[in-house]
Amino acid sequence: MAPIPVIEIEDCVGCGSCVEICPEGFIFNESIEKAQVINPDGCSAEKIEEAIEICPVHCIHWDE
Ligand code: SF4
Repeated sequence: MAPIPVIEIEDCVGCGSCVEICPEGFIFNESIEKAQVINPDGCSAEKIEEAIEICPVHCIHWDE
């Protein structure tokens, strides 16, 4: 099975960068002001890697 991206939601500071990079895979939950994974297959591994690298608190990782 392919690895899927996971957000450690308690660490997310709600910057929105991951959603900007991959709106098909991540969504911003306004009610909790944090990002969530909505579709693990929604964007390319490259885009997910980009989100992992840009996340200021490093709370996105691969669940392998
Ligand atoms: S980039 Fe990181 S801190 Fe910013 S919204 Fe996404 S998961 Fe949260």
